[in-house]
Amino acid sequence: MDDCLFCKIAAGELPATVVERTEDVIAIRDVNPQAPSHVLVMPVAHHATIADLLDKDVALATRVMETASALGRRAGAANGFRLVVNTGSDGGQTVDHVHVHVLAGRHMSWPPG
Ligand code: 5GP
Ligand code: ZN
Repeated sequence: MDDCLFCKIAAGELPATVVERTEDVIAIRDVNPQAPSHVLVMPVAHHATIADLLDKDVALATRVMETASALGRRAGAANGFRLVVNTGSDGGQTVDHVHVHVLAGRHMSWPPG
């Protein structure tokens, strides 16, 4: 996708703090962290939403979630962590390249706003 922020970051055309990278999954620090540790995990390939990704490539969706869970465990240790996948405009998604937020390092309340 020519005009996608996260495609450009994944391609190295825009800077980001990369936490982990494989051939098809990348994890970066969120530029506006909402917790002491806030990482975004996404496929390198462009898929707009988690629903689209699951339609097209369940194995890749699984690798994204495995990476997110492993990073959450590492950051949250025994106290846990939160995974969030905002989807579409009502879901609060602002960057239309699927990404899993991995939030850790503070207690989080429920429900979200
Ligand atoms: P969404 O609202 O789509 O679920 O989340 C988008 C996230 O991307 C937000 O938490 C926002 O802070 C983050 N973000 C937006 N622009 C950039 C950027 O240029 N670099 C990084 N690392 N994160 C970004
Ligand atoms: Zn993209």
